Amino acid sequence: MRAARITAAGEPLEVAEVADPVPRAGEVRVRVRSAGVCHSDLHLWEGGYDMGGGKLLKVTDRGVRFPVTPGHEVAGTVDAVGEGVDAVGVGDEVLVYPWAGCGACPACEAGAENVCDAPRSMGIFQDGGYAEMMIVPGQGYLARLDGVGMDEATSLACSGLTAYTAVKRAGAGGARNIVIIGAGGLGLMGVQIAKATTGANIVCVDLDDEKLKTASGMGAAHVVNSGADGAAQRVIEACGGAGAEGVIDFVNAPPTAALALDVVRKRGTVVMVGLFGGSFQLPLVSVPLRAITIQGAYTGTYSDMVELIGLARRGAIRPVVSKRYPLDGANDALSDLKARKIVGRAVINP
Ligand code: NAD
Ligand code: ZN
Repeated sequence: MRAARITAAGEPLEVAEVADPVPRAGEVRVRVRSAGVCHSDLHLWEGGYDMGGGKLLKVTDRGVRFPVTPGHEVAGTVDAVGEGVDAVGVGDEVLVYPWAGCGACPACEAGAENVCDAPRSMGIFQDGGYAEMMIVPGQGYLARLDGVGMDEATSLACSGLTAYTAVKRAGAGGARNIVIIGAGGLGLMGVQIAKATTGANIVCVDLDDEKLKTASGMGAAHVVNSGADGAAQRVIEACGGAGAEGVIDFVNAPPTAALALDVVRKRGTVVMVGLFGGSFQLPLVSVPLRAITIQGAYTGTYSDMVELIGLARRGAIRPVVSKRYPLDGANDALSDLKARKIVGRAVINP
């Protein structure tokens, strides 16, 4: 089969013929029909995360080994099954839950493999879906599509799922206002999910007016370009004057983190999601005096992914897929995402 692989940080992906993977006992081979191109694939390709002060957290120090096939938003058909697999059969249309854990730590025991102590995530720590086929290490990591389109479904495995987790946290306690920072693949899903699952006034922030226009069309009542002067004040006013009960930062870089803390109201919650990175100074007393909560969110659980497929099936959310690439175009897909040319999601159709 053919696969697009990262062989070294920052080097072009190598699109080459590799051996067809063979499912072992308990494993499933999926014929990939569509793989979403996530900004996290860019961080993986660049080789690390910006920790601020010129420091880089290398993905290889977190357990990634090159060469690796990226792609963690994967929809396809079951192509072959290993011994003992009985819940899915050849030809079934499935979405892969890529956030596999160790199965033994407290998070895995609680059904939250996405925050496992020793993650085995597909497309990061093991080969993913920028390929004609991929191995899924257990039938429990598959969910049936039952009518949701392959390209639209991909984003439900990461961008939609992460946005779902973040909206649940930011909207907890009946938030009247939710501010969504970043209207990319994750942020646009966040706007739709907040619209479908909360009654909040939704305010969306980005640097790009075209993306903000899309956000308005998907349910944001107000949009603010954070490149303009007085952006924080405009966001606070759009929230009725006191700020937002819930703020989700899908960028999470120094300027957006500062904005998030400026616009969160007293007793509110800031959910940090993006991995753009860097560092910033926090006036410590502002946290207790305003009784705010700052928390992180990383992808989501299998059961949340199944709930999300249900929302998509009912038409309550409609993932935006604006561009399609063949496997040979994997490098173009990543470059276009980096150059902010993609509205919503791009997918690779191997
Ligand atoms: P994307 O490239 O599709 O979208 C990013 C958006 O942020 C773009 O619309 C861009 O215009 C906007 N933006 C960039 N800098 C900005 C700034 N300073 N102010 C305002 N807007 C700005 O990316 P994505 O796929 O949506 O991913 C977003 C981030 O979330 C990435 O860092 C990705 O790695 C991370 N991520 C985190 C998780 C998690 O579980 N925590 C999961 C998936 C992705
Ligand atoms: Zn992702």
